[in-house]
Amino acid sequence: MSSLENNFREIIPYTPGEQPQFKDKVKLNTKENPYPPSPKVMNKMLDYNELKLYPDPTAEELISAIADYHGVSKDMVFAGVGSDDVLATSFMAFFNSGKPILFPDITYAFYDVWANLFKIPFTKCPLNDNFKIEKEDYYRENGGIVFPNPNAPTGILMPLSQLEDILSHNRDVVVIVDEAYIDFGGESAIPLLNKYDNLVIVQTFSKSRSMAGMRIGYAIAGKRLIKELNTVKYSYNSYTLNYPSIKLGKLAIEDDEYFKNTVSKIINTRERVKKELSDLGFSGTESMSNFLFVTHKNIMAKDIFGALKEKHIFVRYFDKPRIDNYLRITIGTDDEMDKLIAFLKEYINK
Ligand code: PMP
Repeated sequence: MSSLENNFREIIPYTPGEQPQFKDKVKLNTKENPYPPSPKVMNKMLDYNELKLYPDPTAEELISAIADYHGVSKDMVFAGVGSDDVLATSFMAFFNSGKPILFPDITYAFYDVWANLFKIPFTKCPLNDNFKIEKEDYYRENGGIVFPNPNAPTGILMPLSQLEDILSHNRDVVVIVDEAYIDFGGESAIPLLNKYDNLVIVQTFSKSRSMAGMRIGYAIAGKRLIKELNTVKYSYNSYTLNYPSIKLGKLAIEDDEYFKNTVSKIINTRERVKKELSDLGFSGTESMSNFLFVTHKNIMAKDIFGALKEKHIFVRYFDKPRIDNYLRITIGTDDEMDKLIAFLKEYINK
């Protein structure tokens, strides 16, 4: 190694899903919402003259709208550049005891990347054979806990009673519940904030609000924890949210009717496609998210993934222990899902 390289950070980064550029693609690989953002967002003309100024560092307008929506006070909300930014800031703010933090072995692949980046020790708790989180695994001594609910890439939802058991066994550490997919059939842990001052709930505009390209995520927690998140934020970048995100994010969260409508369309499509895939010999988890996690009884997931890709139908395949015979399929529009099913029918019956 050269002496220059001795100065570098050695880290294996997260690999984001592919963003293929073909015009004719069916893109079901990165859990985006197939529907456009609210018409209130689409029809908004921004004052581009504002771009010459720095944005409001407190993102007050957006934070107020998020707080109103969830019925909490403004000092219980922290916003960032997608929930990735909010989660990374939370890792920096709350996982400093030197004790290992805990998260599932099969989960959002960014957790171990951040832990390594910030030099946080960690222990992975294996999901059981049904890909469920075993709450007792989280009763040991630890430096904090993080997991998605529903989990990714399994889509499995943990009931709130179990989540509360984990919280009550961990009063002295911060428990982060990543609710990126909670709107697709789950119940948020927000009401538990009244009881647990160690709880941080993270949500995003990227999935249920069709705003992945805008990069808006947020945390809801007791004000003591939100203050800590702001301390870390103002220690590395005061202007995380840009002017369009603040303005358009506010409009998106205010349009509850559009949000509910889009989410229910996705849930209906998910349930229909689940049945159609099962008729084709697929089985999978009981996903409560905007994606399905499935395996086929005869054909290897990797082969199906490759065959779909050749037809420009993109799904996600993870070459990782325990899940290397599964596909994660994002729920698209009905038309997109029909294309997927039509191709699979032909491919499987060949
Ligand atoms: N948490 C989970 C579980 C995710 O799957 C994702 C999406 N990759 C995120 C957080 C981050 O989403 P975003 O930064 O777009 O809010």
